[in-house]
Amino acid sequence: MRVQKDMKISLIGSLVLTAVSCGFASASEIEEQSALKQLSAYFAKANMVANPSIVDCTLSGGNKTKCFQITVKPEPMTHTPGPWCPENISSSADSGGIWLEEGKVYDVNGAFIENLSTFYSDEKWRLFDSETGAVRITDTYEKCAGAAKPNVEPEYQQHCVECQPSFVEQSKTITYTIPLFPTEADQPSNTRESGSGIAFDGVRLDASAPVSDILSNYTLAPFDDCGGHVNLAVGYHYHAATDCLQKAATSFDHGEAVGLAMDGHLILARQLSDGSTPTDLDQCGGHQTEQLPYHYHAGEQGSNAILGCLVAEYGCVSTEPGAECDSSKSSKKGSRRGPPDFATAAKRLGVREDELKKALGTPPPDFKEAASRLGITVELLQQALGN
Ligand SMILES: [Zn+2]
Ligand SMILES: [Zn+2]
Repeated sequence: MRVQKDMKISLIGSLVLTAVSCGFASASEIEEQSALKQLSAYFAKANMVANPSIVDCTLSGGNKTKCFQITVKPEPMTHTPGPWCPENISSSADSGGIWLEEGKVYDVNGAFIENLSTFYSDEKWRLFDSETGAVRITDTYEKCAGAAKPNVEPEYQQHCVECQPSFVEQSKTITYTIPLFPTEADQPSNTRESGSGIAFDGVRLDASAPVSDILSNYTLAPFDDCGGHVNLAVGYHYHAATDCLQKAATSFDHGEAVGLAMDGHLILARQLSDGSTPTDLDQCGGHQTEQLPYHYHAGEQGSNAILGCLVAEYGCVSTEPGAECDSSKSSKKGSRRGPPDFATAAKRLGVREDELKKALGTPPPDFKEAASRLGITVELLQQALGN
């Protein structure tokens, strides 16, 4: 099921690799430039801050290689994010977004909010005012910061959680550094470590939403109809691959591409060109076919998992434009030097300092657990802490 170690071939590579020898550039440079051109074309509609480039990078497994680097604003140019929470329990479906539960997609309309206690068989659910039917929504920056994370204080519980794109720092950019050619990892990694990838509209394809944490606080953080919502750390991001995704035609008769995984493999739409869905996908959601090297197919919309895991070594996500990428640092434990600067880290992540400390718990910190509590990836957390 897997590609061979160090096999310098990917869907991108195989599409663009042509035997050119002009005497000025090596074959691998030509291959890299062709891959850059192909990828740049895929991301043509992304909200780019600068043109994509090729940079040196160190992947999660320590492999030093060449990466594709793209810096984007975390807002799509192809649609306006939202809405998420309906205003009243009488509101119709177009005033709210969707919720994903056990493989199904539910419209978050007023009735859905009203019936949450039945839906979750827990009478404590009550996100609305009994007299007016008004849904309690996190409609200010403070409320969004207080509720859009686990360990929600009582005052922010029982809210429909939404963060407006305007709450995110206007200067925020996200830099993705992704291997041009994948290197198979010793073992698959959890998408919580790096996220799943980036959609061709430049929006982050995130790991699964921490649904049990969200629900245990009697909060509901719906996605808009495109499967996206906003958090203060990374801005607008997707938890589902919906029809909103920009599709790129590929030259092979298998399906359309929708994004690039953090390990450099292409992500194709769930459905193949003939309308069927592949039946031989591995635990990460990928496979290779007789004609094609390894690639992923995005998970079902309702699954809350765009990818199950990553088979190859992943690159980096950073909120520092043009950041150098060494993701082997964040995947190693205990590499930190000196005490962390919690205030700066909290600011970078868009959370309060006390919340960051609370998430980290007593030393030594469990970064995976803390990142999950904050609803971000381990990599972003460690980066914010200066690891
Ligand atoms: Zn999210
Ligand atoms: Zn396939």
